[in-house]
Amino acid sequence: AHLDRIATVDPAVHAFLHVGAESALAAAQRTDDAIAAGAPASPLAGVPLALKDVFATSDMPTTCGSKILEGWQPPYDATVTERLRAAGITILGKTNMDEFAMGSSTEHSAYGVTRNPWDTTRVPGGSGGGSAAALAAYEAPLAIGTDTGGSIRQPAAFTGTVGVKPTYGGVSRYGLVACASSLDQGGPCARTVLDAALLHEVIGGHDPRDSTSIDAPVPGVVAAARQGAQGDLSGLKVGVVRELGGEGYQPGVRASYDASLRRLEKLGAELVEVSCPNFEYGMAAYYLILPSEVSSNLARFDAMRYGLRAAEGRSAEEVMANTREQGFGPEVKRRIMLGTYALSSGYYDAYYGQAQKVRTLISRDFDAAFAQADVLVSPTTPTVPFPIGDKVDDPLAMYLNDLATIPTNLAGVAGMSVPSGLSEGLPTGLQIMAPALGEAVMYRVGAAFE
Ligand code: GLN
Repeated sequence: AHLDRIATVDPAVHAFLHVGAESALAAAQRTDDAIAAGAPASPLAGVPLALKDVFATSDMPTTCGSKILEGWQPPYDATVTERLRAAGITILGKTNMDEFAMGSSTEHSAYGVTRNPWDTTRVPGGSGGGSAAALAAYEAPLAIGTDTGGSIRQPAAFTGTVGVKPTYGGVSRYGLVACASSLDQGGPCARTVLDAALLHEVIGGHDPRDSTSIDAPVPGVVAAARQGAQGDLSGLKVGVVRELGGEGYQPGVRASYDASLRRLEKLGAELVEVSCPNFEYGMAAYYLILPSEVSSNLARFDAMRYGLRAAEGRSAEEVMANTREQGFGPEVKRRIMLGTYALSSGYYDAYYGQAQKVRTLISRDFDAAFAQADVLVSPTTPTVPFPIGDKVDDPLAMYLNDLATIPTNLAGVAGMSVPSGLSEGLPTGLQIMAPALGEAVMYRVGAAFE
């Protein structure tokens, strides 16, 4: 049924870069057979899923939305891919994304834009616009995204879906093509908080193949979501972040945020105002740290090991240069140059070093805020989904989308976006943030709220 739905609506939405119809049907059959043979069925056995095209899949291409990886099929599965398969989940295909997860609209994909199912003249957000649009268009009930600065939560807000950025180290990065390794985190996307929780428990947990993976049990998010669904948040303190949600946010977004705060109060939560003064510098620090890591991580695309190799060039160096010239899009090149500059000798301390200090200050802001509240909230995004083409040539305007989501990545704490009603007929999202490994309370609040 989902493959039929994809065939019907994806020509207009373009959520998928690759649909693996045959492998999906074969996987579903294997799950059926295993259950018929008496194997215990996991709660998501047989449920179809859309996978962001940044996770290695041994049976489908993995392009990261880039020309440089066109046609590349990894020889192995990412840990996330492996865990999905082990749970009997059917992977329908790979979803569109901004090239190497850099962007907030999916317009930086080398394979064309994804359209927002709510209004196909608008963007679905990014970088995981494909995964979010697939959910909103009912092409898949579950999806996986990655969030480096907001790429799960912002598309969730723009499509009226649920998106979770787990605690850094909570979901394995093995086989996840790196954007910025100290910020990247895979996570679940769904249409309900409980669905996201079920998926979170499948993909989460320690992985010895990822040196930054946390060696701790997955937080009990399914039980927490079920508890939250009973609609009682009494005894919980919700911190309203003073620096997020005021100036710079569209009036309609602010109105829906105000209504969300009233709803949380009605559910019994106590609202407390908290201040995180260093969040103001989050964007500036992020756009030094991220490009620095990008410039190093993307050095591996050298025309020798993966994907594209330019035909022209008299030396290995020329072939490399030509390949990177032809294979990378403008946003990726911009960030490689920014990062190379920030890391160059003489500038390193002034840029990268300073940004790391700001990162510490932001973590301390979170510590202080979480001492006063169980979770923190803000609008997920400053605006509703914007028209395709509006910001693609204005990097700063594009970067501002992630104003509210970036601090959690810098600090490694958890965050989620849940739908918070419409403004001008378009979706808005409420962001809920929790301390590292504090996902349970976040899911409880999300499930009560939705
Ligand atoms: N939009 C942000 C960026 O362009 C976040 C991307 C992400 O989370 N992968 O860097």
